[in-house]
Amino acid sequence: MDDALAFRRASGRGPDGRSTEIEPGRGTPSWLAGTLNYCTRCGGGLALEALPTEDRERLACSACGYIAYVNPRLVVTAIPVTDAGEIVLLRRGIEPGLGSWAQPGGFLEVDETVTEAAIRETHEETGLLVEIGEIVGLYSRLEAAIVVIAFEARVVGGVARTNPEALEIVAFRPDQIPWDGIAFRTSLWAIRDWVKLRRPDVFASLAPP
Ligand SMILES: [Zn+2]
Repeated sequence: MDDALAFRRASGRGPDGRSTEIEPGRGTPSWLAGTLNYCTRCGGGLALEALPTEDRERLACSACGYIAYVNPRLVVTAIPVTDAGEIVLLRRGIEPGLGSWAQPGGFLEVDETVTEAAIRETHEETGLLVEIGEIVGLYSRLEAAIVVIAFEARVVGGVARTNPEALEIVAFRPDQIPWDGIAFRTSLWAIRDWVKLRRPDVFASLAPP
């Protein structure tokens, strides 16, 4: 083991290691690897290869040499907070997490900033208009090949309205958050981190996750 790797191991996985269930270094998740068969540039076949310029095996095109890098996608979420200090969660109307609670969010589009995405997703999924504030946290989820960012957000307008993505939209007091019904590990950690940040009194009474 080289020094850099040994240092990384000794440092632990960081706060976002809480939100993932699998060990590092396992390569592309199988559900994603199964979709990566052909070169997007020329249509040739992709195969894992050890290349002299790369420090790990990469998917490369046998015909044109194109390297298909596989990286996580960014999911942008917001924790909308009302003037009364409640947080707005929605009960999801679609999979994954159908029927469970989460903060609004979704994949970052290629032509918008993360702040724009947080405002857009919150409006699409709840009807509320928010001002984006502090970053509550960043959370890796290796099995899903995503990184989730959670912003605190202030509700400044709009009208809550249910829609196919949100069966219910509820503003919860921090001591009434439905912890047993949270949809994703990343949501659980983001909401816990928000409570820890803004309501340490409530956080102190929470059971360990
Ligand atoms: Zn190719």
